[in-house]
Amino acid sequence: MTRKPLIAGNWKMNLNHLEAIALVQKIAFSLPEKYYSKVDVAVIPPFTDIRSVQTLVDGDKLLLTYGAQDVSRHASGAYTGEVSASMLAKLGCTYAVVGHSERREHHDETDEIVGKKVRAALKNDLTPILCVGEPLDVREAGDHISHTTTQLIEALKGLKTEQVADIVVAYEPVWAIGTGRVATPADAEEVCAALRSALTEKYGAELAAGVRVLYGGSVKSGNIAELISCENVDGALVGGASLDGDEFTKLCAMAA
Ligand code: PEP
Repeated sequence: MTRKPLIAGNWKMNLNHLEAIALVQKIAFSLPEKYYSKVDVAVIPPFTDIRSVQTLVDGDKLLLTYGAQDVSRHASGAYTGEVSASMLAKLGCTYAVVGHSERREHHDETDEIVGKKVRAALKNDLTPILCVGEPLDVREAGDHISHTTTQLIEALKGLKTEQVADIVVAYEPVWAIGTGRVATPADAEEVCAALRSALTEKYGAELAAGVRVLYGGSVKSGNIAELISCENVDGALVGGASLDGDEFTKLCAMAA
């Protein structure tokens, strides 16, 4: 099965809504429409920018998609500061990133919480981009495969098989995020293939063959080609390099 690559730019806590407009306009101007038949491109801005991005995408009929960096596990109610999946869906989001290592680390998100967020997203027709990845000590101990496959399977617990078909997985080794230390293509392929095997074992080969598994961690235009040439790497979750319009469009064009 051929899987269309996805490049998703995670802006993290950067860019106000005016800067967001400028960056989306830059991407729209620099990446010709013909590329979108070969690669799905998404921006993942802070919550405060999403409405501005939606206005541009709808107004200019852009092929760019967008999503949120997190989503509440709750549907509604007394959860001050949280944003629900239905609110994000109403803003036209396609994706919700869940379980990013920065949220696991700074907000104590467990696999159980991440799983609830996956379910909240799916219930509202958002595609969860489920992040898994090992810290450096786990990699050095040689436990990266069991660590990441456990994170994946735990977060998917309780889902119906057809729901699992609608997720995107992102393998993001913690030691490669924002460090400039990118995983080798062989490292990325080893874990992405193992994640797909874990999906095969639990949900069957047909389903697993259709799920996109991204790599994330210091991806740039200079290293995307060799990463995406790996059989089981179906695109990238890009942090730092997604904030520069020229660099991000170059990266997307190279993935097409
Ligand atoms: C990320 O934030 O998901 C990420 C991969 O960041 P960077 O590309 O900056 O390493």
